[in-house]
Amino acid sequence: MKKLFVTNAKILRRDGFTESIGMLVENGRITAFTSEAPENCEVLDCEGKAVIPGFIDIHLHGGGGAEFIDGTLEAFETVAKTHCLHGTTSICPTPASCSLESLYRLFDVYKEAKEKAKYSDFLGIHLEGPFLSLENKGAQNANYIISPTRELMAELLERGKGVVRRISFAPENEGMQSCIDMARDAGVLLAIAHSNIQYEETEEVYNKGVRLITHLFNATTTIRKVNQIVRAGIVEAFYTLPEMKAEIIGDGCHVPKQVIAMAKRFKGTDNICLITDAMRAAGTDVTESYLGEVLPENRVIIEAGVAKLPDRSFYAGSIATMDRVFKNAVLNVGLSIEDTSKMMSETPAKIMGVGDFKGVLEVGFDADFLVIDENMDVEKVFVRGEGKNECIMHNA
Ligand SMILES: [Zn+2]
Repeated sequence: MKKLFVTNAKILRRDGFTESIGMLVENGRITAFTSEAPENCEVLDCEGKAVIPGFIDIHLHGGGGAEFIDGTLEAFETVAKTHCLHGTTSICPTPASCSLESLYRLFDVYKEAKEKAKYSDFLGIHLEGPFLSLENKGAQNANYIISPTRELMAELLERGKGVVRRISFAPENEGMQSCIDMARDAGVLLAIAHSNIQYEETEEVYNKGVRLITHLFNATTTIRKVNQIVRAGIVEAFYTLPEMKAEIIGDGCHVPKQVIAMAKRFKGTDNICLITDAMRAAGTDVTESYLGEVLPENRVIIEAGVAKLPDRSFYAGSIATMDRVFKNAVLNVGLSIEDTSKMMSETPAKIMGVGDFKGVLEVGFDADFLVIDENMDVEKVFVRGEGKNECIMHNA
């Protein structure tokens, strides 16, 4: 049995930081918190630094020059490796709107990539599209935005069994409205995204069981005048519907820090998770890239730490990794490490349905953890007890 003893660390557990106690990891799982190192085990001396749960990013498209939509095993590995080295121990691969043929091909690659994963764990594919709203599509490719029929949804769910974990959709997409029950009954998580609806329509889908909003504050609606009447939007629905949860892009560009602070104060850490929504340029220093497939019409520019459409009319995804999101939340927004960590690990784990074995450092949970230095930088990454930094050094 492989044993690892993590010692001389401030370990962030569910109820806060604990000092002067070590964490024992056996075969990838946390088995005890004890002050005595057992015999015959590796010891990780953290030199008094903080140990926090690994980040769980439930919405990212790419990184390291690759995107999941590239549809190859190498692309999956490149993205996972890039984000893993920056502290992300679990990810939900997210292809943007694309053709159905490309999607179905991706499902097969996902299965193989999950089995062979050497870096972050894969928690299932998140489809951001193609069932969105043309009016609020943001940087998504309009050519691929479609309306599903029940036959098409049935085929998608059948082919995506055990693969598709979540679908982000626009409720005004007529076809999608009639498919909500099918996706829900298949155990797929539904989230409101790239939508132009108002409060009332948001409440309607909430009453049908939809409990998540995709990148709140980006491609979502808020208070505005419609035919001389002031209407509330998706943002207000998030604040007032008690069980509505949201993900927020935490790169420091997409959402102002005051807005993140306000969302956290109103809805608490149980209802918010921070994401990167990263595209292929994350973890690189390129100035030009592609959002989605590598096609001339998908070209974007990278400027001031974010991807933009070439005419600068829209952001085209972030280039952040989760360590940047963490530092932004703690150092810029001013949130505590405890609150930030919860929104980056425990809450996303619960949203994705893996909250009983991922997201916190407690006995019985996967030993996915990070060593953080005094500048809030990620120094070491462990996925199920395996050190990933070291592993990369061996491979180099
Ligand atoms: Zn996205």
